[in-house]
Amino acid sequence: MNEPANSICKTVRRRQRRAGLAGTAVSESLRWKDGRLMSEEISSPAPRRRPMSVDDYVAGIRAGDRTVLARAITLLESDSRRHEVQAQEVLHQVLPFTGRAKRVGITGVPGVGKSTFIESLGCLLVDRGQKLAVLTIDPTSSRSGGSILGDKTRMERLCQLPAAFIRPTPSGLSLGGVARRTRETMLLCEAAGFDTILVETVGVGQTEIALRSLVDFFLLLLLPGAGDELQGIKKGIVEMADLVAINKADGENRLRAELARQDQAAALHYLQPATSGWPTEVVLCAALTGEGIPEIWERVEKFYGKLEPLGVIARRRQDQSLAWLNDLIQDELKRRFYRDASVKARLPFVQQALLRGEITAVRAAAALLAAHQESPPAPTGTEH
Ligand code: GDP
Repeated sequence: MNEPANSICKTVRRRQRRAGLAGTAVSESLRWKDGRLMSEEISSPAPRRRPMSVDDYVAGIRAGDRTVLARAITLLESDSRRHEVQAQEVLHQVLPFTGRAKRVGITGVPGVGKSTFIESLGCLLVDRGQKLAVLTIDPTSSRSGGSILGDKTRMERLCQLPAAFIRPTPSGLSLGGVARRTRETMLLCEAAGFDTILVETVGVGQTEIALRSLVDFFLLLLLPGAGDELQGIKKGIVEMADLVAINKADGENRLRAELARQDQAAALHYLQPATSGWPTEVVLCAALTGEGIPEIWERVEKFYGKLEPLGVIARRRQDQSLAWLNDLIQDELKRRFYRDASVKARLPFVQQALLRGEITAVRAAAALLAAHQESPPAPTGTEH
């Protein structure tokens, strides 16, 4: 099982080793528990947990029990077929209670201030009586074994708030797998009564596109003064944003931030807005001081206030659901094709024939597809 808390503990141990602390008296560590960062002994064995039924999960989630919610998310993340069946049944049963939260995506390059921003915005929302879930998609965590801890220790204030639930996606999954887990986790959080789901991703490429397909509102954070290339931001990402915020617009950065704001606003002027009927604005903020954060949230609320009655958000969600269904079917078909023994047996020969120029690519593909069609059906089941 791929539990994020475990990978975080591994990261802590690795950091302790690097810092020369391994084997010393340091026994306290940070660990995710029920969506909160807890301090506890890393060596303490996990208590044995009573198996739960689908009804237990559904009742716990509906009651807003964060321990049950955390366990349900872990169930979703499991690779076991039995767990998958149970998790899908839980999802199915809570489906009528989903869809009521604001789904907001936040992206930007590492260092732009995403964690600081989420901490600041999150505390503001909780202060206003909201329940907030923060889900993080970090494509680098599979390589670093849980780089998320570095980020999340900066959300320490938010982590302590009972109305906030923070959950990193597990490492070691494909982008499609991460998107699926995040989408399903979001649904569970909605059924548990969270008012807002913030989904954070590191702006390093494909993940933003996956994120856009999960959320209603997409916020891009940029650094002051740096051009698009320097920011590592592709043009297409700016086009997907419903709001662009130039962060760190404080102190000496203020003027550079204002120039960056004007530049971005001029560039956006010629682009189609990401959401029809909603002009993408460029604003300034300073996550560290909280300046500009209430205004950004006001803009998010205005987005819902204006577009929800017009059915724009419902349509976006419907489109996202259909695209997701399509992705699931394509992924499964592809998986079945490449796992098919007769395809596996023929593929190297067909590839060689193609490379030697003895067969066209179209005939090569047709031969393999025909072989697949003729082979007996494989057992069903989705794996990621
Ligand atoms: P992330 O990698 O995008 O999550 O960025 P972080 O939130 O970890 O922030 C990276 C660094 O920028 C940290 O040292 C923050 O303290 C700093 N930072 C974040 N927001 C601001 C801001 O508004 N102003 C200034 N001056 N520094 C900031």
